[in-house]
Order: sequence, then structure tokens, then C-alpha cells
Amino acid sequence: MKGPDDELKEQEPEETGKEIKKETDDTSDYEDICYVCRRPESKAGKMIHLPVNNICICSDCMQRSLNAMNTQQISYEDLMKGMNLADMFGMDFQETIPQSQKLKKKKKKEEVKPLLDLKHIPAPHQIKAKLDEYVIGQDQAKKVMSVAVYNHYKRVATDTMDEIEIEKSNMLMIGPTGCGKTYLVRTLARLLDVPLAIADATSLTEAGYIGDDIESVVSKLLAAADNDVEKAEQGIIFIDEIDKIAKKKNTTSRDVSGESVQQGLLKLLEGSEVEVPVGANSKNAMVPLTTVNTRNILFICGGAFPDLENVIKERLNRQSSMGFGATLRDAWDNAPDILEQVTIDDLRNYGMIPEFIGRLPVIFTLKGLDKNAMIRILKEPKNAIIKQYQKLLRLDEVDLAFDDDALEAIAERAMAKKTGARALRSIIEEFMLDIMYEIPKDDNIGRVTITRPYIEKTGGPRIEMRGVASLPHND
Ligand code: ADP
Repeated sequence: MKGPDDELKEQEPEETGKEIKKETDDTSDYEDICYVCRRPESKAGKMIHLPVNNICICSDCMQRSLNAMNTQQISYEDLMKGMNLADMFGMDFQETIPQSQKLKKKKKKEEVKPLLDLKHIPAPHQIKAKLDEYVIGQDQAKKVMSVAVYNHYKRVATDTMDEIEIEKSNMLMIGPTGCGKTYLVRTLARLLDVPLAIADATSLTEAGYIGDDIESVVSKLLAAADNDVEKAEQGIIFIDEIDKIAKKKNTTSRDVSGESVQQGLLKLLEGSEVEVPVGANSKNAMVPLTTVNTRNILFICGGAFPDLENVIKERLNRQSSMGFGATLRDAWDNAPDILEQVTIDDLRNYGMIPEFIGRLPVIFTLKGLDKNAMIRILKEPKNAIIKQYQKLLRLDEVDLAFDDDALEAIAERAMAKKTGARALRSIIEEFMLDIMYEIPKDDNIGRVTITRPYIEKTGGPRIEMRGVASLPHND
């Protein structure tokens, strides 16, 4: 039998549903507060809701009440009503906690969907297309990397260990400083939404010596994965300055920061279970340990390898000056892009041990950046430095423009510093300081154009007022 109430419910099921939802939403914007200790949910943890009087108690106070129940013979019913809590804790409570004393809940961050999904790992050309949006040039490197990453995560996803085991695609990237090695890896990890640890090979030493243990790179990754072992096991470890752990030539002492580190890295690169401290950099009695398997961790090593070019040239000159096809002894001395010809033998001659190179099957080189690439880096990437400043000034409703000449001047100055694209930011920051300081002073300024003379410190930027024709500005 249906009563009149039931019919009403049937008629407006959605309306009622909405109202209830609205009510709960309104209150759930605020944190629950413990009726006893007055700590909010964010401090005291999850609350226990008592059915009577609609009050909440944190688990600590609940525990204390239960203990008191044992000693003072308080009945469960009384406790549930919250009646004797005041007596128990010797406090004076108000009936309910006023709205003005409630803390607004922190908004949960929306789950960001990764651009590339590990479960449906995108094809190499798609990975490269994403990298193209951020990293200028280095086409060959991006291509090699995309394929290697694609294969690596396919291997992780299938996780088959039958007789055809797919080899791990650890990489070695060789390129001059500031050409985008770290930036490429960072961008890749961000696109794939995998944790990334960046370590410096120079700080690593054999266990027991001053410096970081080799396994500390894994604990860095664990920290980057918010101590989630499963997530860390699919992450990326980038070891920079790998050329600095080349075997030292002609030494009689123990090489604790060179060859020994290479030896120590072998088992990590290959895949092994390592015990790492949680939330700390070194093992000691006070920190908990956990085990991380490095089998699916992608290792990328990078280094500038200064003088490697000479090692390659020497080999090429030796080869070409023998036999019938012999050419001039120094035919290779001025050849461009000599690094691209690197072989495993050259790396061995440089001081890397063969077992170490053997565990980095994907070897590729990056080119030094020329003036043109520098100009493109200034304006083209999605988060290009110029775009960042333009956005900042747009908030003050000022247009920021750069003359082509000015961009060239910046690129030339950066080239002179010989630290690659890293110099660009410091140069721009240097002269943007004055602009960012002066422009907000005058509300009438509508547009600022950076000119070559301004970069070369022989003139000023071009300032245009709102609604007025261009005015030259010299100070
Ligand atoms: P390194 O090769 O020494 O690791 P980085 O990757 O740290 O150099 O580069 C330094 C900075 O220069 C990066 O943070 C990035 O902003 C910029 N940069 C370098 N190379 C490129 C590139 N090819 N495309 C875009 N930005 C780059």
C-alpha cells in the first residue's frame, strides 16, 4: 500500500535528492572539530560522529573516553550521548561549536590527468610531439628517447619474464652543458606523470666513505613518489655529471668516487632489490627501511664528457691514416658534430668501465645550441621565458614586446657566456628587473618594447602610452 507521502516522494525524487545534497555540501565545506579537544579534522584526523547532538570526537579523545569508561564506570549510552564528556575532562562545553569557529576545509586538488597515460602508452611520435612543445631542437635525441621510453614502459606494462625478456632501455645522453639534458628528462617525467629523482654523480661515493651512498638515488626517488613504493618502482632516475665518475688514470690510491661508483651502480641499473631508508637520506637505526625493486626503474645518465671529442678524433684520425684509403692525419680535426660518431670503445677509453656502458644500451648525443636555437628557446616553448614575463605584465594591462634585433642581442650575449641556454634566463632577469620595477609606477603605460640598444645598454626600451602614439624613451 502506498501512503500519500510515498506518492509525493515518487513525484519529486530528484528535487528532494538535490536539497539533501545541498545541505550536506554546505556543512561539509567546513572541517569537523573535536567536541573535546577542539582540534580540527586536519590536525586530529578522522572524526567519530556521535548520533546524539550531532557532535564529533577525534579518535584520541574517544580512546581516552573509553579508558575512562573502564575506570570510572561510565555507561556506553552516556558516552554516546556525549553527556559525561564534560565531567570526564573537567571542561565546560558549549552545546555546539559555533560556525564562526569552524575552519574551512582545504580544497582537494583536482586530480590532474597525465598528458600521457602509462597504461595506454602513446606511440613514440606522440611522445616526441609533446616534447616538441617544450624542448627546442635536439630532434635526434627526442626521437631516440621517445622510442626508448615507449619500449621501456611497454616492457613494464606487459611485465612478462618468459624466455624473450625485453632488455631495459637505460640511456646515456652526451651533450655540452646547458643544451637541455636535464630539461628533456624533467619534461618527459612530467608528461608521463612518473616520479623523477635527479642525482649528481659527483656527490656519490662507495658505501662507507664521505658522500652519499649510491643507493641514496633510490631513496630520492621514493621521496619524489611520496613514499609510494609501487609508484617509485616505475619512476625515472637521472644521474647527471656521469662523466665525472670516469676511471681516474694513473692513480695508485683507491678510486672511491670514480670506478667504485660505477661498480656500485651496476646492480641498480640492471635491477635489484635495494633497502632504502624512508624519509631520510642515510640509513640509521632511527629510520624505517623499505625494499624497492629497481628492475622497472628507468635510469638515464647524462654528462658533458669534455675531451671526449679528442678521444673520438684520435681514433678517427688513426683509422683514416691507415691502409689504401689513407687521408690526411688531421682530416677529422675540424669536422663538426664529431660527438655523434661516439662508440663504446671511445667511452671506454674515456674511463667508463665496459660493464657500466653495457647496462646503458641507448646512447645518444645532444648538440650544442646555436644562436638560432637560442632565439627560438626564448619565444617558442609553451612556457617560454618571454611568455612568462608577458603574462606577468598583462596582469597590469601592459603589453610587452621584443624587437627581433633585441632577441638576437640576447642570444649573442648568451652564446658568449658558453653555458648554453642556462644563460638566457639570467640575462633576461637582469634587464627585466628595471622594467618590472618602473612600469607599475605609471598607469598610462600601455606597451613596452625591448630594443637592441636597451640590451646593449646604449639606450632605453620603447614606451607607448595608452591611446597615444609611440614616444621614444631615453634615460
Ligand atoms: P644541461 O644540459 O646542462 O642539463 P639543462 O637541461 O639544465 O642543461 O638546461 C638549462 C635550462 O635551459 C633549462 O632549464 C631550459 O629552460 C633551458 N633549455 C636548455 N635547452 C633547451 C632546449 N633545447 N629547449 C628549450 N629550453 C632549453
